[in-house]
Amino acid sequence: MKQEKEIETVTKAQKESIEQTKKENISSLDTESNSQPTDDKKDFIIQLDPGHGGKQIGAEHLKTHTAEKDVNLKIALYLKEALEEYENVKVYLTREDDSDIDLEKRVPMAVANHANILISLHNNGKGTIADYTNGATVLVQRGALHKDNSLISQELGCYILKALSDIGIENQGLMFRVAQNDTHYSNGELCDYYSIIRNCEKQNIPGILIEHTFLDNEKDFNTYIATDEKIKALARADALGIASYYKFEKKQGKEKLITLKNYTEKITLITTDYSKDNVYKEKTYFSDKEKETLESTENSSTQFKSIGHRGLGNQFPGNSALSFEEAGKAGLYAAEADLRMTSDGVLCLSHEDNLTENTNKKGLIEKKPWFYVKEAVIDKDTYGHEGEKICSFDDYLDICKKYHMVALVDIKWHNDSITMIKKAYEMAKKKGMENQLIWQAPYSMRDCLKTIKKLDPNARMWYLIAKEVTKERIEMANKLGCEAINAHIIDKNSVKLVHDAGLKLGYYPDDDDPKQMDTKSSIAYYSKLGVDYIMQKELIK
Ligand SMILES: [Zn+2]
Repeated sequence: MKQEKEIETVTKAQKESIEQTKKENISSLDTESNSQPTDDKKDFIIQLDPGHGGKQIGAEHLKTHTAEKDVNLKIALYLKEALEEYENVKVYLTREDDSDIDLEKRVPMAVANHANILISLHNNGKGTIADYTNGATVLVQRGALHKDNSLISQELGCYILKALSDIGIENQGLMFRVAQNDTHYSNGELCDYYSIIRNCEKQNIPGILIEHTFLDNEKDFNTYIATDEKIKALARADALGIASYYKFEKKQGKEKLITLKNYTEKITLITTDYSKDNVYKEKTYFSDKEKETLESTENSSTQFKSIGHRGLGNQFPGNSALSFEEAGKAGLYAAEADLRMTSDGVLCLSHEDNLTENTNKKGLIEKKPWFYVKEAVIDKDTYGHEGEKICSFDDYLDICKKYHMVALVDIKWHNDSITMIKKAYEMAKKKGMENQLIWQAPYSMRDCLKTIKKLDPNARMWYLIAKEVTKERIEMANKLGCEAINAHIIDKNSVKLVHDAGLKLGYYPDDDDPKQMDTKSSIAYYSKLGVDYIMQKELIK
C-alpha cells in the first residue's frame, strides 16, 4: 500500500534469517513434491505474492531497519509451509527471494499456474488514505466486473480478518479502492486502484491483498513482527483463515476451523488519497438467508429515487431539451436543471453563467437578451450530440410535465435572484406544476428559498450542501423549511443525522471532481447507505 521508497540496505542478520527460512522451507518441500504431482487435478492451487522486493522495500520499521519486503517474504514462506500441511493444496510464490518482480507480472504468474486464488501479502505503513495507524486490512475486489469471484475475495477476506483478530490484531475491515486515473474495465465500470486487485478482476480470478499490521506502529511491530516466531504466528493465522474458508483437511491430525455465520464486516471505500473522502459501509456475509450475493446490494437500488443531473448530462448536452427528453424517456423521478435569467427577464437553463464557456456565443447570460442567448449552440458533447441550443425554462417545464417527471430547479446566482425566482414560480403555477417542482439552493441563495416559502407554504424545497453534512447545516435546512438535503460528501453518519432530523437525503456526484463515480457500484453504495435520492449523470444499466 505504501509508495515506493529508496533502496534500503537489509542487515546481514536479516538476510541470513531469510535464507534460513527459505532453506527450511525448501527442505520440507522436497519430501512432499515427490508424492504430489504438480498438476494433479485435485489440487487446490494458491498463488502467494510476497509484496515488494529488491529496490521496492515497501513500508519500514525505522528503528530496526526492518523492510516490509523481507517481512512479507517470511510470511509467504511460513504460510506456504502451513498451507501444505493440508490435503491437496499446492502453493506457488511470485518470488522466493529478494527479487524485484514487476507489479503487473504478478497476476499473470497466478494465471499461468492455474491458481484458484491469489493472495498478496503485505504490511502497512502510516498514510493519508486511512484514518487508522494500526491493525489489519484486507483489500478485496468490489465486483466491478466479475461478481462471483469478487464475492469469494470478500468472503475469504472476512475469514482472514477473523483469524488475525483472533490472535489479537485489530481488525480494520475490508477495503475497496477505485482507480483515480479514470481507467475503466471493459464494461465501463471504474477500475480498482491496486494492480493486484485490478488484474485479478480482469483475469477473472479471486484475489486479495492482506495488510497484516502497520510496520511503523511500535505496538504492532513488537507484538507481531519483531521475531521470526511472531511472524510465523501471523502466517499460521492466515493459513487457518484460508483453510477455514475453503474447508481444507489436515494431512495429519485434526484442527478446529473457524465458521462464520451472519458475519458483518466493515468495508471502507476509498476514492481519493484522503481519508476524509472515504465512504464506510457494513455488509453481512454468510447470512442465514440463502447465500447473500452482491446482486442483493443492487436490488436495494429500488429504495431510492433517481434524478437526472442536468437531464442526463453526461450522455447528452447538459441542460438541453434533448437531455431532459432523454431523462423523461428513461423514466427518471426528476430532472435537475440550473436556473438563469437573461437581461430581458427570460428564464433559461445553464450551469455556466457565461456563454463563452460551453457555447459558440460570448458573454454573461444575465447581461444578454434572450434573442441572443437562445441562438447559443451548446458545444458538441463526447457522444457527438451537436446543435442543441440553450433551453428555456418554459420548454423544460413542458418536458417535465409530458413525462410526469419532477422538475428539480437549482437556483443559480443572479444579481436580481428574487425577481428570477418569482417569475419562475409564477410560470410553474400557470402550468399547474407547483406540486411537480422542487426548488434547490445553497446557503448563499437562501433568500430565494425564503421568498418561495412566502409565495407558497407548501412548496417543496431542498437545501444544497457542497461541504460535509453537519448538524448546523441540517438545522439550517430545517429552519428554511426544506424537506431534504442534497449533498455529495456522505457517509453512514450523515444519513443518520439527516434522517434523525426528519429530512430526506439526496446524493449528487460532484462534477468538478472527475473521481466521483457514477457507476453501478457507486449507486449500490449510496443506496446501501440509505440515501433517498441519487443524482445520476448518465443512465446506468
Ligand atoms: Zn506493501
